[in-house]
Formats: sequence, structure tokens, C-alpha cells
Amino acid sequence: MLCLFLLSGCTKEERVFKKTRDVMYTLVTITVVSDSPEDAEEAINAGFDEIKRLEELINYYSPDSELSAVNRSSGKKPVKVSKDTIDMIRRALEISEFTGGAFNPAIGPVIKLWGFSKDESERRVPAKDAVSNALDLVDYKKVKIDMAGSEIFLEEEGMELDLGGIAKGYAADKAVEVLRSKGIKAALVAIAGDIRGYGSRPDGQPWRVGVQNPRPKAEKSGPGEDILTALYLEDEAVSTSGDYERFFTEDGKRYHHIIDPRTGFPAESQTISVSVIAPQGYMTDGISTGVFVLGSSRGIELLGSMGLEGIIVDADRRIYITKGLKGKVEIPQ
Ligand code: ADP
Ligand code: MG
Repeated sequence: MLCLFLLSGCTKEERVFKKTRDVMYTLVTITVVSDSPEDAEEAINAGFDEIKRLEELINYYSPDSELSAVNRSSGKKPVKVSKDTIDMIRRALEISEFTGGAFNPAIGPVIKLWGFSKDESERRVPAKDAVSNALDLVDYKKVKIDMAGSEIFLEEEGMELDLGGIAKGYAADKAVEVLRSKGIKAALVAIAGDIRGYGSRPDGQPWRVGVQNPRPKAEKSGPGEDILTALYLEDEAVSTSGDYERFFTEDGKRYHHIIDPRTGFPAESQTISVSVIAPQGYMTDGISTGVFVLGSSRGIELLGSMGLEGIIVDADRRIYITKGLKGKVEIPQ
């Protein structure tokens, strides 16, 4: 009865619930807005389960993944895979087209040579001829998809797909779908630097996401303490690709994990960080990697032609932003 009279006082208050776990070899944080801790927990767990499920399908390093089965059968036979794996590969090829091959999921044979796997001790500068032999196998146009039969065929023996440049953004999209299906009205899924949000915070404000400073100042070395700028996300995604994520130093030279598919060597585009905002995470993840390879001027041009927004930092710490972000982000001088 009391509720009838004091309706507003009886509505449960919305709060933010958040959990971080180690998935996809990185830290994943799922934040949801809910008026029930139980509903929030159930949804967050389902979100993590979805990310793990996708990781198992496309884990390059696991012999049991569908992706490994496809790679092992290159040049031999098509492999039947789940709709999710097909969909991720299809989207990766779409991004390859958009970026003129700067993003190229067929980069597997080259990535393997550099040892950019989870184990840091395997990283090394490969021999030049080994790189050029591996490059012969890097051709995304030789990835054939049979949608009706749900099959993937890599036409050349030795070809290998590596979805590391798109999997995190894709998984963030899928986790968001699961959260929505659980009735969550607003959430943020952050898989390292690949972040997808929807809805708004309980105070009505959009989600605030910090873009990491690619060269953090030592005195602010804690995670997320030194940010370049903040972005506000509505129903969209942001990804940042940087040369500081995974790299090693040999003979005084820094080698990072974003490879130029034309050379087989870490991209020397003079970019150190690229952030892209787009409606979906698979786009921001793949395109940020591609733009990193293309460099600032071609990168800003590409983002403009696609109607997307982004921030690029070059090796001289110059910051380039797309037109739509002007006045919306605070950029340090
Ligand atoms: P991070 O994994 O640090 O978020 P990216 O999203 O930029 O960074 O993806 C880099 C990963 O993508 C590499 O570790 C590698 O597996 C793969 N990769 C590297 N170069 C390319 C490229 N040119 N096109 C597609 N994938 C790439
Ligand atoms: Mg990426």
C-alpha cells in the first residue's frame, strides 16, 4: 500500500557493479548498471563466459581451437567451423578491405616468426629471408569462406590466420549482446584497450573512458593514472593500438607487435598510439591496428572517409584528431 503512495521512494536505486578477470591473456573489466546485485552478478558472469567461449574458438596458441584446425588444414582442405568463427573471420576480411590490407588477419606466419606469443622469452628479430618467405603466405584474398557450408579454406599450404588484431573488440561486442539479453540497460566491457559501451551511468552521464598516455610519466606509473585524454562513449566502442602494449628491445632498437604486412617488420609509420571510435568493437579494434600501420596522415584520411573518429599520436608526440572530435576532447599541448 505504502508503495502506491510513495511510488518513487519504492523504486530500487540503480548502482554500478564491476568485476575484473584475467581472460584472453589480459585484464577484462565488465561494468554494469543495475538495481539488483544478484542480476548484476549473473549478467557479468554470463558476459565473461561469452568472452571465454569466443577465445576458445579462435585462440591461435591452443591446438584445440577452431582457428588452429583451419590453420593446420591450409592448402589441404576446408574446415567446418561454428557460425561465430566464420563471422569473426568475415569481419576481419571486411576490415582488411577497408584498410587496403594494412590490417591483415593472414599475418599469422610472420607473427609466429617474431614470437609475439604469450611467452616473452620467445621474442626475437627473425632472419630477413625467413620474413620474406613467410610474407609470401600473407594474402587475405586467399581466405575462402563458404557461408552455406560454414567452412573456411586457406588456399595456400602454410597460410595461418591470426585474429589477435580483432578478437578483443569482437568479443566486447558479443559480451554486450549477452548483457543486453540479460536485461542490463547500461554497461561497459573493457578487454584491455578494446572497450564497448551502451546506455549511460546512473547519474545520466555517458561512460568516461581514459585513453592511455603512450609514454607515461614515471611518477604516474600506476594503471590508468596517466591518461592522454578522456572520451565519452554512448552506444559505441573505442580501441587503442599502441607500440607500448607488447614489445621487446634488441641491440637498442624497439620492436613492437603491430606488423606492416608489406614488410613483415613492425610498422615504421611513426605512430605510437591510435585510438578509434566506431559503432562496434570489432571495427575499432581492427581499424586501430590498420591505421597504426598506415600512419597519421593516411590514417586520419581513412577515418574521415569512413565517417569515424580517432586520435593518433606520432613519434614526435604530435597529436592528430579527426574533425568530429575537435572541441570534444581535451588534448594536452
Ligand atoms: P593489442 O593486441 O595490443 O590490443 P592490436 O589490436 O593492435 O593490439 O593487435 C595486435 C595483434 O594483432 C598482434 O599481436 C598480432 O597478433 C596481430 N597483428 C599484428 N599486426 C597485424 C596486422 N597488420 N594486421 C592484423 N593483425 C595484426
Ligand atoms: Mg586491434
